[in-house]
Amino acid sequence: MKTDYDLVIIGAGPAGLTAGIYAARARMNVLLLEKTAPGGQILITDWIENYPGFPEGISGYDLSEKMKIQAESLGLKIESAEVHSLNLSGEAKEIILKDRSLTTKSLIIASGASPRKLGIGEEKFFGKGVSFCATCDGPFFKEKTVVAVGGGDTAIQESIFLTKFAKKVYLVHRRNELRAAKILQERALKNEKIEFVWDSVVTGVEGFFGLEGVKVKNLKTDEEKTISAKGCFIWVGILPNTSFLNDSVKTDEFGFILADAKMQTSVPGVFAAGDVRDTPLRQIATAVGDAAIAAVSAEHYIENLS
Ligand code: NAP
Repeated sequence: MKTDYDLVIIGAGPAGLTAGIYAARARMNVLLLEKTAPGGQILITDWIENYPGFPEGISGYDLSEKMKIQAESLGLKIESAEVHSLNLSGEAKEIILKDRSLTTKSLIIASGASPRKLGIGEEKFFGKGVSFCATCDGPFFKEKTVVAVGGGDTAIQESIFLTKFAKKVYLVHRRNELRAAKILQERALKNEKIEFVWDSVVTGVEGFFGLEGVKVKNLKTDEEKTISAKGCFIWVGILPNTSFLNDSVKTDEFGFILADAKMQTSVPGVFAAGDVRDTPLRQIATAVGDAAIAAVSAEHYIENLS
């Protein structure tokens, strides 16, 4: 079978870059496609302290830059292009881009996930007070009051980061218990700049030119109030980046790709790695582990093609 590539990797977050490192070292004819900039979600993570090898911690930007340099120095070709759709019906897999298509013997989908929105009209204030990224936008809120939403690792870690700038962070969570790791909970609970607003949801955002207030409803009492704030950071989970899939591989009910222990999806020769996969843990460490397995599985798959 003649194809443009042995392996195409979609997505240049930690999973995609790691798969690229393994594939390049295996001397596969490999291409990595990335829609925006290499790095993925860790680019909007201020500080990473649970990735082994960096005892002082490392910024998301620096870690992704190091991964990219390592991958490219091993010969990985990274191209900026958005995948429009896939045709996985034949043995040669077809990847349709905006202006052309590519063929490959195997494919690793490592397209990651994106922040979930609240759906309360927050898009009106994107760039005017509503944000998903403390690293990018935190410095705009020096000595201001901000609201953060969510109770997971992201909400807690990033709220702590926001207190470097903001005068006060109201952390709105829909339950009275946090989902985040205990070490993060302990830090947030003793941070004097963070005030928890328990059992509550954000029901609206208001302002004239920019954000001025965040409407919050207590789910136990039904009481509604408006918190006067210039910023609202939304960290209520993630959704898989799979718009190009069109049901070509099996996913779970939320759209995360199903894969076995070898990262093999429902289509032979198509593998998944990282946050886009249906996985019990979404960490950089698990993403790079998935990716190493996926790359070696792709190599074995190609070796066994007739
Ligand atoms: P997550 O763990 O899914 O947490 C989402 C949070 O948002 C939960 O507290 C959830 O509440 C709340 N939520 C969901 N939908 C909501 C809605 N419509 N309105 C209000 N609240 C809503 O998401 P995440 O924090 O973004 O983390 C994603 C993954 O990345 C996780 O696997 C996490 O462990 C990982 N991560 C790890 C680190 C780290 O290790 N330092 C840092 C960042 C992210 P409930 O709790 O009530 O469900």
